[in-house]
Amino acid sequence: MRKSDLVKFLFASAAVAALGFYGAGAFAQADTVDAHIAAAKAAAGSDIVSPLSLCNFRQGGGGAQVTYSAEPAKIFDNLYFIGIPGVSAWAITTSAGLIVIDSLDNPGEAQTYIEGGLKKLGLDPTQIKYVIITHAHNDHFGGAQYLADKFHATLVMSETDWGTIERMQPPPAGNTNRGPLPKRGMAVKDGDKVTLGDTSIEVYQTPPHTPGAISLIIPLKDGNQRHTAAFWGGIGFNFPQSEQNYTTYFNSVEKFSKVAQARNADVPMANHSTFDDALKKIDLLKARRAGQPHPFVLGWDTQARIFKVQEECAMAARARLRTAAK
Ligand SMILES: [Zn+2]
Repeated sequence: MRKSDLVKFLFASAAVAALGFYGAGAFAQADTVDAHIAAAKAAAGSDIVSPLSLCNFRQGGGGAQVTYSAEPAKIFDNLYFIGIPGVSAWAITTSAGLIVIDSLDNPGEAQTYIEGGLKKLGLDPTQIKYVIITHAHNDHFGGAQYLADKFHATLVMSETDWGTIERMQPPPAGNTNRGPLPKRGMAVKDGDKVTLGDTSIEVYQTPPHTPGAISLIIPLKDGNQRHTAAFWGGIGFNFPQSEQNYTTYFNSVEKFSKVAQARNADVPMANHSTFDDALKKIDLLKARRAGQPHPFVLGWDTQARIFKVQEECAMAARARLRTAAK
């Protein structure tokens, strides 16, 4: 390399480095709590509110506060809400039966809100073929064994979280708030598909909310429109507090975000309405008139900003841990 070329090369490298420093947004990406929170807020803009609560570093992570005022609702032609305010459950209709996502806290809730909710919606709970459990926390698996026993549904969880379940203590006898640990069913891993009839749901492992938490890509229909949900399966930061776990969280969002972008995902979804505002959107949906936009369809750009908020809040939390350790 000639000397003048070397100077050009060094100059270009410095420019690239500077772009890297400023490239991700209007804010400098210094690795500090304040810089990451500022970047999260910049990505959130005025319209993304609930996901930004990750930057409050609460450890609860949207755990189940048990109130029962949510009504079951049809969201898309093939997607139904059958959850409660504290935690969501969803049903997907296919040409060969129903796929349920998550099972609430316990058998009583599964009976009242999943089985009962499906009936209220005119759907037949005996057609539940799969129950996909997003992760091994009680508020998602507590009703699963009830659905497996009553409707012969196959329980689906990541291989990693079946292992997590096997290491858990069953709830104390007489505790009806927590459901029994589900018996091992079908195990999925990163990149697998759960297919029923005409519908395939893609599965991606997105730790560390639990080691085997999974996120899903779900095809949706609204009349003759087609949409795609990016369903985030493990939201809160209530995992063992380590810098490595926050790095893992960031990497999981990066990985799933790339898949979601490739699928042009335009419907952000989650398993707690405190994160995806499902209940507010259901109210908007009830008031929707013909020709108006669907309140669950926010577009890829908004989805990408939600991922960015998750990443920046995780990096803020990691910086906070690092500072505290000094
Ligand atoms: Zn959880």
